[in-house]
Amino acid sequence: MIVDKLQAVQARILAACAEAGREAAAVRLLAVSKTFGPEAVLEALASGQRAFGENYIQEGVEKILAIRDMAAETLAATAAGPVEWHCIGPVQSNKTRLVAEYFDWVQSVDRLKIAQRLSEQRPENLPPLQVCLQVNIDGGSNKAGVSPQEALALASEVAQLPRLQLRGLMSIPEPAPDFVAACALHQRAAALFDQINQAGVLAQPMDTLSMGMTADLEAAIHAGSTMVRVGTAIFGRR
Ligand SMILES: *Cc1c(COP(=O)(O)O)cnc(C)c1O
Repeated sequence: MIVDKLQAVQARILAACAEAGREAAAVRLLAVSKTFGPEAVLEALASGQRAFGENYIQEGVEKILAIRDMAAETLAATAAGPVEWHCIGPVQSNKTRLVAEYFDWVQSVDRLKIAQRLSEQRPENLPPLQVCLQVNIDGGSNKAGVSPQEALALASEVAQLPRLQLRGLMSIPEPAPDFVAACALHQRAAALFDQINQAGVLAQPMDTLSMGMTADLEAAIHAGSTMVRVGTAIFGRR
């Protein structure tokens, strides 16, 4: 049952926060529902989960529309606020309009051109699109993400776009052999996050450090993650 798996993940987050001496409220859970249908999302909604991550934009939009139709009763029954959709997959130029029109957040921005299109295409009647920059923290050569060296410049430019709100950084490091190695990788992202916030170029500091998945959420929380993105441990194997 999804409700049991959600509770187990929340217990892991609580334990990791306690272990790291951090407040439980400091870490949000993004439920990554990619490849699972609207019924799975509904089940998670019924147990109070509200933030969902999607990698494939077309699939995400279809699910967003399905949930709008299906979820009114479920949402009314659990007073936990509106559903929040995060795009966490690659965004090509020809998909920016869908992201701008349907998602609340996009965590995978790694180029100014994409950010500019998202800002131009964000509908007037919606709040600003919430944005994280994806950072390629371990330098995998064919991986998405801005390099750590270029992240500050991109952050200062994205922060000035009128219809976007820069919230933070997102990283997907390679799997590490053990806890200590995983912590070291996540700490690099945390250090970059602090460095950008302290550089004095952002009018508002970033508040979101999105890192940690099913396999490494404890290490990510140890290193300062404020949002873990968990798929497998909630919805099962893809
Ligand atoms: C699929 C995915 C996740 C979730 O990974 P799990 O290992 O299933 O928890 C998190 N973040 C991104 C960017 C993903 O693509």
